[in-house]
Amino acid sequence: MKRLAVLLTLLAAGAVSMIFAQQAGTPVALEIQKVKDNLYVITGGGGNTAAFITEQGVVIVDTKNPGMGPGILEKVKSVTPRAVTMIINTHTHGDHVGSNSAFTGMVEFVAHENCKTSMEKMPAFQSDEGKKFLPGKTYKDKLSLLSGKDKIDLYYFGRGHTGGDSFVVFPALRVMHSGDMFAFSKGLPFIDTNNGGSGLE
Ligand SMILES: [Zn+2]
Repeated sequence: MKRLAVLLTLLAAGAVSMIFAQQAGTPVALEIQKVKDNLYVITGGGGNTAAFITEQGVVIVDTKNPGMGPGILEKVKSVTPRAVTMIINTHTHGDHVGSNSAFTGMVEFVAHENCKTSMEKMPAFQSDEGKKFLPGKTYKDKLSLLSGKDKIDLYYFGRGHTGGDSFVVFPALRVMHSGDMFAFSKGLPFIDTNNGGSGLE
């Protein structure tokens, strides 16, 4: 049983390496699909990105690998003229926070407090310029953003894939963005102990 768990962890780690390997390759084609009238998923180029169209602007969940910002913005523009006003990072990995710096202007960055602590250790967020793209708003257990049909609830249930994974719920749509706590292998999530992950919590 223990051996099986180790094998699954290694398989998951291999999958993560494959994602990061995409960074060095040729430009990745992104795809956008409608989930609900005002919610889209953008796939390719790293972790899945959500685009939630609200009254005040577009909320993006996760920004993929570095260099994917223009592609994400192009896909958003294909479905709405509204500007991106908020970025939520589900966790610290480079394929989920890698293109934060593409979102300049009046953009609010939100993540769990442990996620911010981990992001501060990443080279991309250590320069004065890079620090602008760290979460400016953090939370401990639960945080509600916006209101009415645009309401978004962030939940933290303890350490898992990393030490700061957020579950992002769109209550009016009954949809959740789970970051990497839901493994695309439909198996165990990769537990990144270097970033505070835990298979127990
Ligand atoms: Zn991850």
